[in-house]
Amino acid sequence: MAEVLVYVDHVDGAVRKPTLELLTLARRIGEPVAVHLGPHADEAAKVLAEHGAVKVLAADAPEFAEYLVAPKVDALQAAYDAVSPAAVLLPSSVEGKEIGARLAVRIGSGIITDAVDLEAGDEGPVATQSVFAASYTTKSRITKGTPVITVKPNSAAPEAAPAAGTVEQLAVTVADSSKGTKIVARTPRESTGRPELTEAAIVVSGGRGVNGAENFPVIEALADSLGAAVGASRAAVDAGWYPHTNQVGQTGKSVSPQLYIAAGISGAIQHRAGMQTSKTIVAINKDEEAPIFDLVDYGVVGDLFDVVPALTDEVKTR
Ligand code: FAD
Repeated sequence: MAEVLVYVDHVDGAVRKPTLELLTLARRIGEPVAVHLGPHADEAAKVLAEHGAVKVLAADAPEFAEYLVAPKVDALQAAYDAVSPAAVLLPSSVEGKEIGARLAVRIGSGIITDAVDLEAGDEGPVATQSVFAASYTTKSRITKGTPVITVKPNSAAPEAAPAAGTVEQLAVTVADSSKGTKIVARTPRESTGRPELTEAAIVVSGGRGVNGAENFPVIEALADSLGAAVGASRAAVDAGWYPHTNQVGQTGKSVSPQLYIAAGISGAIQHRAGMQTSKTIVAINKDEEAPIFDLVDYGVVGDLFDVVPALTDEVKTR
């Protein structure tokens, strides 16, 4: 069976959920071979094997931490040369998309970014994308070279599928040309204890209807009761009520959670662009004509300051 390279997104060996989703999708196309760059490959290999990785190609080099993505592209290319895979899958993170694009250029292939589904096809993997602010769904296939595909988080539920997950060391030579952009400082963000917005299974977002930074704790309380991430519309971000890192939409982040709750958000097309692929959408808005109600699964017409705290209390009782 053809092998499929899966780029592992991890923090010090703790494999992030989008990688487990990639392994699940990779199994539809062939046998997943994980590429783990950085420390603690043995730790990661256990989880990767549980989710179907037949092999884990591991490499660590100081350059991975010292420079931006180019040394990792060298390593992924080394894995590509070693395996000759049927496809290369990466998470649709900023890093995943840049590494994927650079690899595609180097190996003379095409790239599909932000896929929301993947299936095997007679002439290669077929990726589903949600385009034009999620107004259309397209299915595409790469016609040149080995397909490189990045997949949005939450596009598939990770499924366990025990496999060997044998760790093999990958010999990597970092080219001098890959040392052009050095990382000079890292400033970790203060942790909120909430899941990462783009990876969260549930997102609760607030918009202009929240009416001030001082009211966002109402949104946060619901999010915390559900173990959710907090999002915000651009109107709320532009008003300075919530950080830009939490903005959902065309000029913010794209999310695709199992459940998206929009409170006090009208549903402008630019906001939809970032959340319309969510599996279940709930809106709370006091205007029954608000466009957001055109795309919801469940809509509540009401004042968010009544509805959201009542919902939070209800969730807490369960
Ligand atoms: P509004 O449109 O003002 O809607 C507020 C809603 O809250 C209304 O429907 C109102 O009925 C409701 N409401 C008010 N009070 C309450 C209450 N007490 N209880 C319940 N409901 C209440 N927007 C984004 O979100 N993300 C983007 O990435 C983004 N990118 C953009 C890029 C470009 C190039 C442009 C031009 C625009 C972009 N926008 C983006 C802005 C977008 O067009 C909208 O202006 C924005 O999404 C509106 O935010 P909102 O829904 O919070 O505010």
